[in-house]
Amino acid sequence: MREFEYVIVGAGIAGCSISHFLSKYSKSVLLIDKNEDVAFGASGAAGAFLSPLLGKQNKFKDLVTKALSFSVSFYKENFPSDITSCGTCIIPKNEEDEGKFQSYIPYMDFEYEKFEDGYLFPIGSVVNSYNICKNLSSNVEKLFNFNVERIEKINNFWYVNDEIKVKNLILATGADISLIDEKYFDIRAVWGQKIDVITSTKISVNYHKDCSLSKSKKVDENRNLVSIGATHNRFNKDMSKTSYNLKLSNINKMEHNEETKKIISSDIEKLLNNASKIKKLEDIEVVDVKIGARASSVDYFPMVGKLVDSQKSFEKFPHIKNGTHIKNDKLILIDNLYLLNGVGGRGFVLSLYLANKLVENIVNETALEEDYENFRLFNRWAKKPNKGKI
Ligand SMILES: Cc1cc2nc3c(=O)[nH]c(=O)nc-3n(C[C@H](O)[C@H](O)[C@H](O)COP(=O)(O)OP(=O)(O)OC[C@H]3O[C@@H](n4cnc5c(N)ncnc54)[C@H](O)[C@@H]3O)c2cc1C
Repeated sequence: MREFEYVIVGAGIAGCSISHFLSKYSKSVLLIDKNEDVAFGASGAAGAFLSPLLGKQNKFKDLVTKALSFSVSFYKENFPSDITSCGTCIIPKNEEDEGKFQSYIPYMDFEYEKFEDGYLFPIGSVVNSYNICKNLSSNVEKLFNFNVERIEKINNFWYVNDEIKVKNLILATGADISLIDEKYFDIRAVWGQKIDVITSTKISVNYHKDCSLSKSKKVDENRNLVSIGATHNRFNKDMSKTSYNLKLSNINKMEHNEETKKIISSDIEKLLNNASKIKKLEDIEVVDVKIGARASSVDYFPMVGKLVDSQKSFEKFPHIKNGTHIKNDKLILIDNLYLLNGVGGRGFVLSLYLANKLVENIVNETALEEDYENFRLFNRWAKKPNKGKI
């Protein structure tokens, strides 16, 4: 049996970011994915735009602002050729939206200036998602085409599919949370699609209105590559026969069935239509289509750190079921198991920042911020009248 100090399951931007920061502390790190390479889940589908969140002051906006500043500086310093920092022009969709923009002016966290029909934020950037994940994980061992079906804790070690023994297990599995056996831990899969097109039109900055449009990259004299993202699809019916199935691997390399193809075509139409409301793109040819599932938490905040063991916590404090609040540090936690999930539609903004915090928490016991720790999920669920059947 192979043995490691750290195993990370999930080689998307969350897992790759964790692997980068952990590799500074340990030589014994294994990064696992069921796909054949890094960034083959949501992270490979992302337009990977990095934009500020506008709005009145609130905790989520504060988090996005901190993470955006951190991530843009990090990408520029470490992987300058994989980030295009040309600014993003945010265009209000209508008069009401323009009114909202005006009301947000006192709360702007980043510089901006009037530009065409919108407002240009120089911090706005776009990254090459595959290269970033590849580079972040370059110093750790990787195991691809390996589906983790079972994790089990025996004494002080975790066993992964009875094949790998590890001291600390970190789950960064995105929208598929089937390895986590805690009822309060919930994720909504929000499927989406991004397309790349070749066009004769040149675009000088990123744009965001009903969709995002990237600055163009020159292919040759008359042809430019532009990314357009993204759609949002929440499916309330059984999609297991389609490619919108979290259990599949390498979904963007497989032959799709008719139902999937229909959704893909309709999403291409939606994206082209939304893009045309930003810029008239001439001579368009769609050259790439990617689909993926965003992992969204119920309250939009990410989910980071250890998990509360609800069974053991209820046994120790039976009155939690009656609504009594127990301080977080008294609850029983699942040892040596850590998570980074719920980065939703901003994985390339949030993951690096949170991975850095999580690794400092694991290695140096630095406290995490309450807003994105997993305790809140347990505490909310435990207060509910009919939660107790675990
Ligand atoms: C169409 C689209 C456009 C987007 N655009 C942007 C954008 O412009 N900017 C931005 O910041 N974000 C964007 N996002 C969101 C961003 O892509 C996600 O937030 C981010 O990729 C999530 O990263 P992750 O590592 O948590 O998940 P993922 O990238 O999905 O990685 C999870 C990995 O875990 C693996 N895994 C799961 N279970 C197992 C198992 N049991 N065994 C082995 N491996 C397993 C999966 O194979 C997968 O590779 C977009 C998302 C989509 C879908």
